[in-house]
Amino acid sequence: MSAEAAPPATVSNAPVPAPERATAPAAVPERLRITEIFHSIQGEADAVGWPTVFVRLTGCPLRCTWCDTTYSFHGGEWRSIDAILAEVASHGARHVCVTGGEPLSQKRCLILLRRLCDAGYEVSLETSGALDVAAVDPRVRKVMDLKAPDSGEAGRNRWSNLEHLRAHDQIKFVLAGRADYDWACGVLREHALAARCQVLFSPVHASLKPRELAEWILADRLPVRMQLQLHKLLWGDEPGH
Ligand code: SF4
Repeated sequence: MSAEAAPPATVSNAPVPAPERATAPAAVPERLRITEIFHSIQGEADAVGWPTVFVRLTGCPLRCTWCDTTYSFHGGEWRSIDAILAEVASHGARHVCVTGGEPLSQKRCLILLRRLCDAGYEVSLETSGALDVAAVDPRVRKVMDLKAPDSGEAGRNRWSNLEHLRAHDQIKFVLAGRADYDWACGVLREHALAARCQVLFSPVHASLKPRELAEWILADRLPVRMQLQLHKLLWGDEPGH
């Protein structure tokens, strides 16, 4: 039999896929548990007034007495980070606020923050001050609480976080009364907070009269910025704003 007459290669002669390639697991998308994503007006902190997309992560290890987002403690649904980014983009806003709950209680929050920054958004993070902020992308504006005694969670303040704040970050005190205010004044002095970044004083809604807080700040010549929650003036306590 001549070489030209050799039989054509059969299917059984075709290369067989390596077994490990055939059985390799598909990549699992990075996911986060999400309570809600919505478009509203930023009601607090440095970006107050800007149309903003809020990404509210589910879960919080704290239980502040005056918490107004207890609905974020449980439930929520798993969403891939790609799906979260797609929904954020659908709202067409430049500002994105990652909040909770305590968003840093989900480790993959750090990936979400980085990817939002990479996508070109102005990104802020609202965090309780109880969890380590060292690994947060430096492009993110951190709005970090220091919990005052009437919150019931002052023992959770992670003081080492102060070393990780940048000039564009903010420290927020939510104050329920005069004892909280006096405590905050002491912390302000002891840690020279105003030299680190902006310091925000905010009254607990329906607990401390805003005018009273304003008068204390003026009388004491404090280098702090008072704020009211604009979204509460606009929409009350309705979730989704
Ligand atoms: S840290 Fe925030 S979400 Fe958690 S209990 Fe306190 S106020 Fe509520």
